[in-house]
Amino acid sequence: MSRTIQLSIWKRKGREMDEKDIDSQTSSIAITQTSKSKMKIKSKAKKNKPKQHPLLSYNELPEYMKDNEFILNYYRSDWPLKQALFSVFSWHNETLNVWTHLIGFGLFLGLMMSNLVDVPQLSEFFGVFPSSSSSSPLSSESNISQNLKDLYPVTAKFIDLNSPEMEMVSPVQKWPFFVFLAGSLFCLLSSTTCHLFSCHSHNLNVLLLRMDYVGIAVMIITSFFPPIYYIFQCQPLWQIFYLAGISVMGTFTIAILLMPKFSSIKYRSFRAFLFVGMGLSGLIPAVHGTLANWNEPRRNAILGYESAMAIFYLTGATFYIYRIPERFRPGCFDLAGHSHQIFHVFVVLGALAHYGAALMFLEYRGSVGC
Ligand SMILES: [Zn+2]
Repeated sequence: MSRTIQLSIWKRKGREMDEKDIDSQTSSIAITQTSKSKMKIKSKAKKNKPKQHPLLSYNELPEYMKDNEFILNYYRSDWPLKQALFSVFSWHNETLNVWTHLIGFGLFLGLMMSNLVDVPQLSEFFGVFPSSSSSSPLSSESNISQNLKDLYPVTAKFIDLNSPEMEMVSPVQKWPFFVFLAGSLFCLLSSTTCHLFSCHSHNLNVLLLRMDYVGIAVMIITSFFPPIYYIFQCQPLWQIFYLAGISVMGTFTIAILLMPKFSSIKYRSFRAFLFVGMGLSGLIPAVHGTLANWNEPRRNAILGYESAMAIFYLTGATFYIYRIPERFRPGCFDLAGHSHQIFHVFVVLGALAHYGAALMFLEYRGSVGC
């Protein structure tokens, strides 16, 4: 009895143990599968989650990005292009540098379009400039009592070359005016691109910085075209001499700026003085043109606009060269109010003042002829 009973007990125990083993094996397989799937989900989530790119301090930057030791924080470095592009909508120390010139680009694009196609609403929208010697606030004969009814046709005339108010007695070439607008657009766009993407890599940083410097040189060269072309239109030798002079000087400057040596941080002030020198060389044809047209009634208004342009550019360059105001309180102007942002605003203001003068040059030549 005992043998049979013992055998049956062992068999039952064995079966129970087998069942338990299977159960534990199944449960362990289930656990492994769940943890595997959990890991898969985790790794998928990791893949989908965008990689965080923290903003760095000046000391954490790679050497090539160390430009302004008075701006202490909020730097982007080695960011992918996509993240750099979308960073236009987030705060870092280049946000306002991008937006100041992006808005300037939008303004000039609007001015270009309003002059290429006859869109009165666009002209009205951009109708911020007063016109002609009789109504310019920069003119000695400024008339502030002019009512709005009178103002619209005048502003439209000043903004829109296609306006019937633009009285032309002789046909005038408009291309020098558009050369200036195109040069300004190129400068503002290359600057915006540079400030947005130069944090991507060393190679792109070098390339975009050079493009930014070339953009400034192009803007200066093209700014010379409307005044020289229209003032000296009846003296073709002087016209060619001055236009060729600024073109040669501009090409020479661009060649220097493209040399690797001169695009380094060490030569920042040298580059600024190069641009200022190029701008100041315009004094020679300016003095020549003013003396030759001393009795022209638009003289004061034009000189007013051009003086405003020179003051805007020189003030901007002073902020840029001496890094005012961040040098007095390092770290306080990292996000807003540092020298480069102020410089950008003055560049746009200077270009707008020159736009005002360029339209007056065009109107002057159209009404006077040769
Ligand atoms: Zn800039």
